[in-house]
Amino acid sequence: MSHYSALSILRNAFSGHRNWTRAWQDPEPKKHYDVVIVGAGGHGLATAYYLARYQGVKNVAVLEKDYLGGGNSGRNTQVCRSNYFYPQSGAFYEHSLQLFEDLGQELNFNVMFSQRGVLSVCNSMHELEIYRRWANAIRMNGIDSEMLDRGEIRKYAPHINLDCRFPIRGGFIQKRGGMSRHDAVAWGYARQASAAGVDIIQQCEVTGMVTSDSRIESLQTRKGDISGDRFALCVAGHTSQLADMAGLRLPITSIALQGMVTEPVQPIFDTVMMSAQIHTYVSQSDRGELVTGGGADLYNSYAQRGSLDTQQHNFAALVELMPIFSRLRMMRVWAGVCDMAYDVSPIVGKTPVENLYISTGWGTGGYKAIPAGGDCLAYTMANDRPHELLRPFQLDRFSSGRLIDEGAASGVAH
Ligand SMILES: Cc1cc2nc3c(=O)[nH]c(=O)nc-3n(C[C@H](O)[C@H](O)[C@H](O)COP(=O)(O)OP(=O)(O)OC[C@H]3O[C@@H](n4cnc5c(N)ncnc54)[C@H](O)[C@@H]3O)c2cc1C
Repeated sequence: MSHYSALSILRNAFSGHRNWTRAWQDPEPKKHYDVVIVGAGGHGLATAYYLARYQGVKNVAVLEKDYLGGGNSGRNTQVCRSNYFYPQSGAFYEHSLQLFEDLGQELNFNVMFSQRGVLSVCNSMHELEIYRRWANAIRMNGIDSEMLDRGEIRKYAPHINLDCRFPIRGGFIQKRGGMSRHDAVAWGYARQASAAGVDIIQQCEVTGMVTSDSRIESLQTRKGDISGDRFALCVAGHTSQLADMAGLRLPITSIALQGMVTEPVQPIFDTVMMSAQIHTYVSQSDRGELVTGGGADLYNSYAQRGSLDTQQHNFAALVELMPIFSRLRMMRVWAGVCDMAYDVSPIVGKTPVENLYISTGWGTGGYKAIPAGGDCLAYTMANDRPHELLRPFQLDRFSSGRLIDEGAASGVAH
């Protein structure tokens, strides 16, 4: 694998960019691996990378039914933050944010991480009180967060309609939050995982599992049977279907969440802004498009498309909050199938099936968690014991009752 640098761009420019090496290999699957990961989204690829690079587990395959990064990891709106309410979540997401801060160097790939601040505005006095509590909780978790009054909000969002239908009363900001380029994160992990010896096998859907004595022996795939010692499911909204093949029932439902972008315009908005009550969030990509989203669809579905009324609700909310955007044309709308746990927190670790691990429940907020999710799941699989940061996020919390209800931390309600 060649190192990406200014020098390598220059060198390759002289040869007409014909000599770049492939970013990742395209191998045929072997019959057996030490670890088989299903799903080449950010979480599957990051887990493979950390296993091979830091845990000494090199004989790893990542099986992808379509193309890598084509699931939610390439469909999200790229917001990264660690402003969660509970200490367990704060510790985990802060680890992820810190990994993001160095991810470009770590992967030798520009993931375009931009700490432009994540601003949450509130639209009632009651919400303001709750936000004070939330912002204080974040600070008590050792994470940055600052309350803002209306005047300060205007500095971050000059075009905001402070006197919209539910007038803005205040808000808070995590200045270290922001966004990064989602494809680059998937491609960066894929490239380094492949260089470390991981086989990434695309167009290789898992269609069944051969099990015995509460263990998985092998996976049935479109490219033949593949056996392994340990298996991980990193398949986002399809976790229930895959777990069912292993005889496992999970507290997960699947819903479609939509993202939308406008035509590109000159730089006009340089923060990420969310309103839970008006029910929308928006940022501007480096290409100039306004990237926006809102609530998830109100019914369960595996269909990778969203409903029109959710789109309309989001546009109405966006225009109410930022009337200047009303003249922009929408360019694209798409959806991803999200895996929601009942407490809106992830479930990552071992399962009752002896050699099966899961990384699920990321719901509408698992992009920001990719570095930490991969790092901690790799540790858990290599050592067969949960990483400290993952202990609260085990499946058994649904029987012990130790739920971590982060329903309010999604930025917009789902
Ligand atoms: C519109 C939208 C906006 C979002 N915005 C944000 C945001 O701003 N910030 C944030 O933190 N999070 C956000 N999210 C959530 C985030 O995108 C996801 O939580 C995260 O990408 C999940 O990553 P993953 O690797 O688990 O799943 P995915 O990236 O979906 O990867 C799973 C992979 O598994 C593959 N697969 C499925 N079934 C099989 C099978 N049978 N065999 C083989 N492969 C299979 C799929 O093809 C897919 O590539 C958003 C999601 C959506 C849909």
